[in-house]
Amino acid sequence: MTIKLGISACVLGDKVRYDGGHKASAFCLQQLAPLVEYVPVCPEMAIGMSAPRPAIRLQLDDENKVHLVQSNNTAVDHTNSMLAFTETKLPQLSSLSGYIVCAKSPSCGMERVRLFDVKGQQLGKLGVGLYTRQLMHAYPWLPVEEDGRLFDPALKENFICRVFSCYDYQQTMQDGFSVGKLVAFHSRYKFLVMAHSPVAYRELGRLVAQAKLFAPQELQQRYLLDLMQALKNIATRKQHTNVLQHLQGFLKHGLTADAKQELSELIHRYRQGFVPLLAPLTLLQHHLKQQPNAYVSNQRYFAPYPENLGLRA
Ligand code: SF4
Repeated sequence: MTIKLGISACVLGDKVRYDGGHKASAFCLQQLAPLVEYVPVCPEMAIGMSAPRPAIRLQLDDENKVHLVQSNNTAVDHTNSMLAFTETKLPQLSSLSGYIVCAKSPSCGMERVRLFDVKGQQLGKLGVGLYTRQLMHAYPWLPVEEDGRLFDPALKENFICRVFSCYDYQQTMQDGFSVGKLVAFHSRYKFLVMAHSPVAYRELGRLVAQAKLFAPQELQQRYLLDLMQALKNIATRKQHTNVLQHLQGFLKHGLTADAKQELSELIHRYRQGFVPLLAPLTLLQHHLKQQPNAYVSNQRYFAPYPENLGLRA
């Protein structure tokens, strides 16, 4: 099984936009494509629109309901068609491990989509694309990101980390959930979660410790949702340093004074921004080869996604 990633069809290069163009993403087409299986969706084409077509927009009515209307003739309302499409399409997407949507679109945008009132006045970038709103409601744990935000290295790294973690969890539980599997999974993710959110690290630990209080299906979904929310926090240099120092603690008794100092200095130089995360991580892994420690070596923190994506440099 490969990672299945939903994607706005225009981001994959399909000429399905209202102007007949596309919004191909080099990152999606070149770097990510060999690692995932894309599930492209163009919700507007799926409800029978053509390309090119009149532009549409989000409009707030007097009862605070959001509609998807044609910009130059707001009497043409696509809301019901789009909602009917999501009702049939979304249940087919339960095996996805992530979704990349096209920014600013009144159908696909994840946030900050322009919203208009019934008189045509802009209310601000307050909307969420109608299709993506329903998607995120149906799958609140699903990592969703916009094509434009993937240009930001920290946001890109964060999204990819969530996608691969989500997939790992789905794979682990695919033959059935058990508390034993959850405990083993959580044990591997402790330091990755700690790097993203020390608070969530403690809360997830509590959730796993109280596993017997939950119905299995509830716990399976709750853990994934909480894990994805924890990983959504950007891992800061300070938090990575904290994790590196914890990991160093597992090795310190087998290291010479010089080796200890070298590792401490490298972690400190990472903390100051002089070397990338990869530098102390590589040295830690080198020491782990000399003095194996299964608990530490198994930490997902060392390899949350394939190295060749180059996201840790
Ligand atoms: S943003 Fe969404 S609806 Fe618009 S062209 Fe791209 S895939 Fe289709």
